[in-house]
This record gives sequence, C-alpha cells and structure tokens, in this order.
Amino acid sequence: MGQSIESYIKHLVRDAIGHTLGGLELQRDRKTYVIANWKMNKTINETAEFFQNVKSSKDVSVVVCPSAQLLFPAHLFIKQSGQPIGLGGQNVHWADKGAYTGETSASMLKDVGCEYVIIGHSERRQYAGEDDVLVNKKVKQALKTGLTPIICIGETLDEKNSTRTEQVLSTQLFGALKDLHSGDIIIAYEPVWAIGTGQSATAELAQQTHAYIRSVLKQIFGGQADSISILYGGSANENNAADYSGMPDIDGVLVGGASLQAHSFEGIINVFAKGEQNS
Ligand code: PEP
Repeated sequence: MGQSIESYIKHLVRDAIGHTLGGLELQRDRKTYVIANWKMNKTINETAEFFQNVKSSKDVSVVVCPSAQLLFPAHLFIKQSGQPIGLGGQNVHWADKGAYTGETSASMLKDVGCEYVIIGHSERRQYAGEDDVLVNKKVKQALKTGLTPIICIGETLDEKNSTRTEQVLSTQLFGALKDLHSGDIIIAYEPVWAIGTGQSATAELAQQTHAYIRSVLKQIFGGQADSISILYGGSANENNAADYSGMPDIDGVLVGGASLQAHSFEGIINVFAKGEQNS
C-alpha cells in the first residue's frame, strides 16, 4: 500500500471525522497535486517521449497541461502508459460554443480527456489581457462542464515591493470566485516575479502567503476552504520541492520549466509522494 499502518489509520480517521477528536486537531485531508504547465512547448513526438519516460505516483495527483493541439495525443499516450496522470488544458473559453475563432470550449476539453483547466495564468493576464471578470466567467464555465479549474493568482514585483501583495491576492480571489458556491477548485499562488526567473519564493514566504489565501477563501467559502488545495508555482524544481512539501498550507506545485523534462518532473513528483507517505 506504500503507507505505514499508522499513516493509513490517520488518513481514515481524518476522512471520517474531519474535525477535532479528543483535543487532537484533525483537519480534513486535502489532495496534493503536482501539475505540469508546458506552456507553448513540445511536438507530438516529444510528448510521446515524455510519457514513455516519466514515472508517476499514486500517492499524489499528477496532472499534465499541454497546449491545446497536444491534448488528444497526450490523452492517448497517458492511456497507453497506464500511469496515474490526469490531463488539463491551459485555457478555456467562457461560452458553450459558437463563433469564437481560435478558442477551445470546456466541453471540447472534456471530449479529449481533460479533467482540469488552468485559468487566469499571469501570462494570459499579461499577453491576452485577461482580467478577473473574464477569469470568473471561465471558472464558472469550467465548473458547469465538470472541469476542475486551477485558478492562478499572484502579485507582480512592483506590487510586492509596494507591500500590496495581500490586497492584490484578495482582489483576484474575490473577482475570480464571485457568485461561486462550489469550492471544487484548485488555487495556484504564482508570484509573477518568480515565474520562469529562477527566483523562487522561499518556502516560508509561500507558506505565509498561502495561509493568507486560505483566510480569504474562508471568507468566501467558510469551512469548505479547508479542503481547497493551494499550490505554489514559480521556479519550483526538484531541488526546492522538499522545502515546499514540508509546509502545512502548500498542497503541491504548479511547475513550468522543470516539468518539460521527464526526469526533473519525476523528481518533483517523488518529493511530494514521499511527503504524503510520511504524513
Ligand atoms: C508557470 O508558468 O506556471 C510556472 C510555474 O513556471 P516556472 O515553473 O517555469 O516558473
């Protein structure tokens, strides 16, 4: 089973009770995710090679988000490999269907085997002008279609330096989650200054920020907030993954650059899988 008896019983009790037992704080378990964001990278052959070489783990939820035209081949390669790997899109349109040239609908994502979709990534906010209103429409469309949205939020360097991080994150969360009642979402905290720069946030800073994000989620969803996974993203790699995996409010990572090579992505999966086995 890959878990000690003690850890197995702890998980069972937590799942069954989900609150305090005899003075012992028992939080409902959250899922741990290791998610790859391949951005605009890879050919079909490179995708095949990746899935031939990567070894996933059943102890964490592993998801790969390739670009739109790679989704169906990726779905087939994952099936062929027999590995526990989920599939996600990198973007989705807010409408059901229609005259939206170049766009991909939520039902099209479902049709090619997706269960997840990244929404509001900072690169889409920056290059495609996406704002919180649009992010909110996309999140609702994803949920309506049965996709789990991976909602990206994060402050720029300017905003960080002018101590506006909390204000920015709170605005992004209230905007993205407006009129939502389902907490069946994943939040990815991705400080813009850390994405693709090699300047990852320290695990302590990320933990502090995740705790703040959870406090905002509590204002929105109440107790449901405890079951929402909050991932860190921004130059995460196999060398710093262990620091993040040890933090109570960091429920996994969204990985760009280090997810492109099977061996480095696998290194990150292994770190989080080990963390789960020891918890
Ligand atoms: C991302 O863009 O989602 C990301 C986390 O990128 P990187 O890991 O390359 O910083």
